[in-house]
Amino acid sequence: MEPPAEVLLLGADGRMGRALSQLVTADGRRPIPVDARTDPDVGRALEAALHRAALILDFSSPEGTLALLERLPGHPAPCVIGTTGLDARHEAGLAAVAAVAPLICATNYSVGMNLLWMLAERAAAALDPAAFDVEIVEAHHRHKKDAPSGSARTLFEHVCAGRGQGAGEPLWHGPGVGAGRSAGGVGISSIRGGDVVGEHIVHFLGDGERLELAHRATDRVILARGAWLAARWLAGRPPGRYTMRDVLGL
Ligand code: NAD
Repeated sequence: MEPPAEVLLLGADGRMGRALSQLVTADGRRPIPVDARTDPDVGRALEAALHRAALILDFSSPEGTLALLERLPGHPAPCVIGTTGLDARHEAGLAAVAAVAPLICATNYSVGMNLLWMLAERAAAALDPAAFDVEIVEAHHRHKKDAPSGSARTLFEHVCAGRGQGAGEPLWHGPGVGAGRSAGGVGISSIRGGDVVGEHIVHFLGDGERLELAHRATDRVILARGAWLAARWLAGRPPGRYTMRDVLGL
């Protein structure tokens, strides 16, 4: 089914928002931009936009997503959330929205990253946790506000699922911090700098051999394209929480 004409872009003035605005316009739809940087009363702008929008894309901040989730049940519309750094406060809001509208909340909308998640889960299932340490290393540009990245956290959850263990907390190695390594844990390290769009490598480190699975994004347009693909796929679906696996048919 064709998506509706008016598309709310929350975080429209950001890197992802600008990339999405171009895609939405090129696809013959009309973006309704809302951004804290350009709207002095962003709450009111969001409320007004929600009255008109029949499709919603959010790449803003955890606060922006929270404000959206609070208002969405009053204005149900298909919704794609890409903001990362979400926490337990958002989970309740996501569940409430999914009860009334089709929703996808993903930490990475690229096809390659979604495949990496699956491959990492399979590798983790195949390799003995007692023989292989797992370390996830991610790199992003100097402006990225959260660490570790949402994609690295999702990668962590897939590795834990593959090993058949609950996703507790990763062994977190912050930038420049050296930490001892306990057996069985899954580590995450983050580096920030330059214009790196996004790199994620999962290392399976054994004695005498080592497996690496890597994904490198070189252009953020892949993320915007995936998000727009998801939005188009969501339009017309019944309420519920969907994933990129559903969209990509993986
Ligand atoms: P950015 O800083 O360039 O843009 C964010 C925009 O959101 C800014 O223009 C800012 O003014 C606006 N904003 C912040 N708080 C707001 C609020 N309360 N209400 C309205 N607007 C608000 O960041 P970006 O690189 O475009 O990324 C945005 C978010 O999307 C981040 O959380 C990032 O991690 C995430 N991201 C997700 C994916 C994915 O595939 N899921 C890909 C890239 C980025």
